[in-house]
Amino acid sequence: MKMTLMGTGTSHGVPVIACSCPVCTSSDSRDTRLRCSALVEEGNQHLLVDVGPDFRFQALKFKICRLDAVFITHSHADHLHGIDDLRIFSHKNSFAMSRDKVISEKYPETSGEGLPIYTSERTKGYIHQRFPYIFVEHDKGGGIPKLHLISVDENNAENPLAIGQDQGKIQVVPIPMMHGNHHTDGYVFSYFGQKGQKNSIAYLTDCNFIPDESVELVKKAGGHIEHLVIDALREREHSSHCNFLQALGYAERIGARHTWFTHITHDMSHIQIQKYIDQHLQEFSGLAEIVKAGGSVSPAYDGLILEA
Ligand SMILES: [Zn+2]
Ligand SMILES: [Zn+2]
Ligand SMILES: [Zn+2]
Repeated sequence: MKMTLMGTGTSHGVPVIACSCPVCTSSDSRDTRLRCSALVEEGNQHLLVDVGPDFRFQALKFKICRLDAVFITHSHADHLHGIDDLRIFSHKNSFAMSRDKVISEKYPETSGEGLPIYTSERTKGYIHQRFPYIFVEHDKGGGIPKLHLISVDENNAENPLAIGQDQGKIQVVPIPMMHGNHHTDGYVFSYFGQKGQKNSIAYLTDCNFIPDESVELVKKAGGHIEHLVIDALREREHSSHCNFLQALGYAERIGARHTWFTHITHDMSHIQIQKYIDQHLQEFSGLAEIVKAGGSVSPAYDGLILEA
């Protein structure tokens, strides 16, 4: 199972419009950050996590030709407002066609219910409110995405979502978290190898409080967690995002082999954040042990590929 981080920046993206700070003008490509999104691939299954305003550019940049399902963490614009560009993937039984066929077959309408969009019942409501034109019966057709909103509220470690024809090869468990006073969902993606071992990637963006039950749920759902991708906005505290030290605290408790910061702002460069992590690692003895044993804690960057 492979996860490509297609965006690792905060809601403004980095560079920030009209900003000329050292990070926004950095020549290090790791300091250019699109809005947060990830692509999970296993076999012929292609799953998208969040569809922000940079989605069209990300789909072209990372050559996405097919999507089988989309997972939405929450309804903030930087995670949702590229939703209209899903329409290319919502035709012909929810699969985008090869580029040649797109031209020759003139975008045939899907015969199914549309591209599955998994999210909480709460976020489903926000999507309906914010994009009513997508769900109005008489407006359906080739010009709008055909989406099938599916609640994940009943899914948990005992009842994970099973994705793909090879039922259960990829399992997904939603992780309820708080993002200021907003509810959001992280997701744990697990892949069963040929010997039946369970390898997982936990993707926990946009949170400043992860309840104890949810920390336990990540561990229970994940088995061996090879990678943790976690919200770590900046050094200073924030009302709805983890700062670096809070992210390190959660990372220590979750205990993934590799931890990656995401949703990063322009306060520090990639290199400065890595230095900050290295300087503070000893305050988190559990994490320091993991790093000593070959693990890592680093800022993520756009285009980073994680395998589990
Ligand atoms: Zn965000
Ligand atoms: Zn800046
Ligand atoms: Zn948010």
